[in-house]
Order: sequence, then C-alpha cells, then structure tokens
Amino acid sequence: MHNTALITGASSGIGAAIALGLAKQGYHIAVGCHSSSSVERGGRGVAESCRKLGVSAECFVADVSDFSGCAFLVKEVAERFGGIDVLVNCAGVTRDGPIARMSEEYFDEVLNVNLKGAFNTIRHVTPLMMKQRGGAIVNISSVVGLTGNRGQANYAASKAGLIGLTKSVARELGSRGITCNAVAPGYIETAMTDAMPEKAKEAILSTIVLGRPGTPEEVADAVVFLVKNRYVTGQVLVVDGGMAI
Ligand code: NAD
Repeated sequence: MHNTALITGASSGIGAAIALGLAKQGYHIAVGCHSSSSVERGGRGVAESCRKLGVSAECFVADVSDFSGCAFLVKEVAERFGGIDVLVNCAGVTRDGPIARMSEEYFDEVLNVNLKGAFNTIRHVTPLMMKQRGGAIVNISSVVGLTGNRGQANYAASKAGLIGLTKSVARELGSRGITCNAVAPGYIETAMTDAMPEKAKEAILSTIVLGRPGTPEEVADAVVFLVKNRYVTGQVLVVDGGMAI
C-alpha cells in the first residue's frame, strides 16, 4: 500500500485538519501522536474520521524530540503502509516568556520539539524517499519565524530555524524528486492560541488585514497544495490573513 502521509502533531488542531485534508485527497494517514493520552484525547477520532473517507489510517505514538523514537516511528509506519510519500512536521509547543527571564529549560524544550523534532523525522524519512525517488515534505513554521515576536524568542528561533532547514533540504534533495516547503501560519484558532490572554488575542486581531483568525482547514489547504504541486520547492507559504505583509 502506498500514497501514505505521516503527520506529526496530528491528534489536534492544525495537524488534525491536515490529516483530514490529505485523507480527502486519497492519502493513507499515519496520525502522529505525542503519547497514548493524545491518542485517547484526539488521535483515535482523527484516524476514525480519515477511515470514514475511505482510506487507511492509524495512530502512531512518538515523541518527536527523541531521535531514536523517530527512527522507530518511521520504520513502523513504513512497514505498516509499505512506504512514506508525504511527511508533514506539525508537532509544536510554546513556552513563552520575556528573554531576560527565560529559563534554559524553556529554550531547550521548544527547540527540541519544534526544530530538532523536524530534523529527526526528516533524517529518518529521507533515505526511504530517496529510494522511492520522490516525496513531499512540509514543515509547519510560523509568521513569527519571519517577523520575531516579543515573549517568544525561543519559539520564533525554532520556527525561523525550520525555514533554514526547509530550504537546505529542498536544495539537497530536489534532484531525487523530493520537495520540501514550509507553511507559516499566522493566528489560527486552536488549543494553542486559546490559551493566550484575551488582551494578546485582541492585539493580534487588530493586525490581521482580513480581520479574523484563520482556521486549521485554511492551513491544511495550503499543505495539500504544496504536497500536490510538484514544481514548488524551498518556499515559505504564509497563511496569515495578511498579518505580516
Ligand atoms: P496544538 O497544540 O493543537 O498542536 C500541537 C501538536 O503537537 C499537539 O497535537 C501535540 O500533542 C503535539 N506535540 C507537542 N509536543 C510533541 C512532541 N514532543 N512529540 C510529538 N508531538 C508533540 O496546536 P496547533 O495550533 O494545532 O499547532 C500545530 C502547529 O502549528 C505547531 O507547530 C504550531 O507551532 C504551529 N502554528 C500554530 C499557529 C496557531 O495560531 N495556532 C500559528 C503558527 C504556527
């Protein structure tokens, strides 16, 4: 069985919408879940919804910050589905705070999940894709990776790092038929942004040209485009309602 997409952070929010968006395109879906509790909390439902669209879908548990855990994840998914054609790195965390008081733990945690996590999965998926002579990788960055953001030095650094990683992988693997792009969402309504203080939400809303937050489905549409289009690589597609024009 082929035409398989592995999406990390797919048990909730944007990752769940991407899983469903790719399932609608006929991809079999490996729903990457952080832990067995994220399988319970959302991953199982996402896999079930994908199966209702007529494709195969299963949850796979892995902490993306764990290098050997990602090797095992890729091996498991490839064995189950016969290969991996699409990798979407969507797992991410925030640990916000002012730079003058940011702990080393907060900095390391965010970099380890958001940036090293993407390296870990790409590192293990690319030998497979190279053997297949094709594949599509999409990394979920953020507009703050382009603009920076007060109180998010760790997060913005991780998301900016993803852009460098994306462009390097695109250059390195283009000759093998593998594309690598990034999507940079702005303010999207999910559990991650729900947790923000009301005042911060209002301040962000006032900067959005289209005057509203985006939906996870609007980000998923951009990912589907980058997966299907075979002549776009090394790009950052900003999906932010005009926030960072
Ligand atoms: P979310 O919290 O619903 O999704 C994050 C996912 O990452 C969760 O499913 C979580 O279980 C998973 N995850 C966290 N740590 C992990 C780990 N160590 N290993 C594996 N999985 C792990 O929030 P979301 O808004 O859907 O975020 C999805 C992605 O989009 C993130 O990378 C986030 O940085 C990015 N993003 C979100 C927004 C927004 O406005 N919501 C904007 C720009 C970028």
